[in-house]
Amino acid sequence: MTFKELNISEPILKALANKKYKNPTPIQEKAIPPALDGSDLLGIAQTGTGKTAAFAIPIIQQLNRLHFNERRREVKVLVLTPTRELAIQIGESFGDYSRYTDLRHAVIFGGVNQRPQVDKLKRGIDILVATPGRLLDLINQKYISLDSIRHFVLDEADRMLDMGFIHDIKRLLPMLPKQKQTLFFSATMPLAISNLSRSILNNPVIVKIIPGSSVADRIEQHLYYVERQKKSHLLVSLLKQEQTKSVLIFSRTKHGADKIARILKRNGIDCEAIHGNKSQGARQRVLTNFKSGRTRVIVATDIAARGIDIANLEMVINFDLPDVAETYVHRIGRTGRAGQRGTALTFCSQDEQMMIRNIQRLTGKKLNRILV
Ligand code: AMP
Repeated sequence: MTFKELNISEPILKALANKKYKNPTPIQEKAIPPALDGSDLLGIAQTGTGKTAAFAIPIIQQLNRLHFNERRREVKVLVLTPTRELAIQIGESFGDYSRYTDLRHAVIFGGVNQRPQVDKLKRGIDILVATPGRLLDLINQKYISLDSIRHFVLDEADRMLDMGFIHDIKRLLPMLPKQKQTLFFSATMPLAISNLSRSILNNPVIVKIIPGSSVADRIEQHLYYVERQKKSHLLVSLLKQEQTKSVLIFSRTKHGADKIARILKRNGIDCEAIHGNKSQGARQRVLTNFKSGRTRVIVATDIAARGIDIANLEMVINFDLPDVAETYVHRIGRTGRAGQRGTALTFCSQDEQMMIRNIQRLTGKKLNRILV
């Protein structure tokens, strides 16, 4: 199946060609046709499946089809997402896919000055990507009205619940017009989420992408048993041997992340750390440098890495093992995105060995042990 066969229009096909996407991912194949027809959608899928394009493309195409008279600059699309990192990434995707249209988008999230966001809104936009708290703030201050929304996307609904946003969402829902298309995405379906989806979706098409094994199968997973004090030495020598261009290293603590970054730099390896002690601006700069290939290696804590989406990440290294096996799967799932191959290396010291058994049980796969 090609994007053309999904009846995607010329300006978007051109933008996809720029991104060098060859074919649609499974969720795109299944979700784009009904979403283009205006149906509501319940997508059960994780990040990494290509779900952003699965909702962004049909929305852009529908807006681009609007008759000239209907093209007033008012907010027609609302995408709600739990974190600022995701909001920024979704905004970038809308920017990329709508590059050859005259649509405009804005991204709003908390924790930063609202002024630039408000200025952007005042200039007039079609598509708004937002985290719930800042959105409610700006609605209360009358900078935003949701009266003209035609398409509503609720992204990562289960994480919204985990992060305590469900109350905010319930306040926002009645502000949306009744007549609209709703696209609802969640990686898991706990009861509270399936109830929420039932209450807001109208006869939805359900698209389910089964996670788990497929991710683990695409990623080569190697295990090194190594004493704690020798981990840095192993890391430096592996990074010097490897030709990999983009490597994400996980550290359990912020302090540990800084220390690893220092050691790598001292050994001439291009590297930056990213964690919660750094300002949003500093984190964004680190990410931009990494995505553009200026920095080869970043060291992150789990929290700082949440929601980070790096296409073409070649390798993940678990310098420390996480506390729960699910986190291991999330970490390694950063590589091997959208059908590409990836490698994950795990350093395990004696006190961490128990975790390996849990991980192998969860993924149903034995890690390939490398002797050092
Ligand atoms: P998402 O699940 O939306 O976070 O997307 C995961 C990653 O896959 C992102 O880095 C996208 O840029 C990439 N991607 C999305 N669609 C495709 C596609 N059809 N072919 C290749 N890569 C894609």
